[in-house]
Amino acid sequence: MDDARAIEGQIIALRRRIHSNPELAFQERETANLVGEELKRMGIRVRAAVGRTGVVGILEGSFPGRVVALRADMDALPVKEPQGLEFASRKDGVMHACGHDGHVAMLLGAAMILAKHSTALHGTVKFLFQPAEEAAESGGGARLMIEDGAMKEPKVDYVFGLHVFTNFPSRTFALREGPVMAASGTFKIRILGRGGHGSAPHQTVDPVFVAAQVINALQGIRSRMLDPLAPSVVSVCSVHSGTRNNIIPDDAILEGTMRTLDEATRKQVATLIPRIAKSVCGTFGAKCEVELEDAYPVTANDPTVTKSVITLLNSIPGSRTLVVPPLLIAEDFSFFLREAPGAYYFLGTRNDKKGCTYPNHSSRFRLDEDILKYGSASLALLAFNFTRRRGQPHIGSLDKAGGQRRPRQSP
Ligand SMILES: [Zn+2]
Ligand SMILES: [Zn+2]
Repeated sequence: MDDARAIEGQIIALRRRIHSNPELAFQERETANLVGEELKRMGIRVRAAVGRTGVVGILEGSFPGRVVALRADMDALPVKEPQGLEFASRKDGVMHACGHDGHVAMLLGAAMILAKHSTALHGTVKFLFQPAEEAAESGGGARLMIEDGAMKEPKVDYVFGLHVFTNFPSRTFALREGPVMAASGTFKIRILGRGGHGSAPHQTVDPVFVAAQVINALQGIRSRMLDPLAPSVVSVCSVHSGTRNNIIPDDAILEGTMRTLDEATRKQVATLIPRIAKSVCGTFGAKCEVELEDAYPVTANDPTVTKSVITLLNSIPGSRTLVVPPLLIAEDFSFFLREAPGAYYFLGTRNDKKGCTYPNHSSRFRLDEDILKYGSASLALLAFNFTRRRGQPHIGSLDKAGGQRRPRQSP
């Protein structure tokens, strides 16, 4: 924490630089350049263009040990930022409204701390700067980074990531063992009716009416067909049909999202959506086409690793750690957790006094910059401890942690 405090000004300056120059998914070129330059300045080896615009930094410690990966997502959102901040977005209609600018700055801060103490560091730390977390519709950036070898050579033993979140108070870490975020998937239902005059519905198959029945019936999945103790959501979020007040159209298109926390429930939902849509349409003489697509899998924290993470986070002075229920948001960090055990945690950024109260993705989302140093400290602490091979996680100052230096040997 002392190390993080000492570089707080640099972390905030980096965050503001990135905030003023937000880049959308897979367009994070200038952010990636900035990240690459900063890492090289710290003496950290850099691999660029991993998963299109991603960057991987590799820092080797002086002792043998494990490989720990720390991840930050870099992309901004198509949100128009209101004027006011001196470092507000300079790009019209693009804003860091999910706090990924803070994630990049915090991970660079952690890299500074770890690089400073590399002579006391065991194993290897990999810094994963990931593109396109928000672009679920194109598969997200995590999967591409993995395909490009980000989790290999050296093979990652543990992976950690964090997200700033307005739901929790500033300086609060929040996490749990097991599923922490949902599996997400999308559905698109095209209802094919037969159009005609609004005054003569009996001569048509009205897709607007049928769509309304389908929307209602789909809510029966959650309320009547699934175990009430298995969290899930089926939301129809877009309805498109018709052109004018007196024309019954030919078709209607419904689109929505489904969220689940376990594989059995996910399969059930994926089976029930087409079954219900088709039978309701059939009842009223309409046909229907259903497309389902999986986006991100469940983000599942490794229980054993998470226990140690909670102990470590609890040791950070000035912060507190909460064990929280899962959320039905989704994250492509889940793909990294399929490659190696690890944990994902939230860092609260709600601060009523500073007006940091609007939710992530709101144009008024505001990061409490006071939390950045806690994020950097937490990531550095996890890397420093999980790279060590044996014994309990070490909690304490980095200076003391070096212990008996051993010659580097193959693991
Ligand atoms: Zn987001
Ligand atoms: Zn986000």
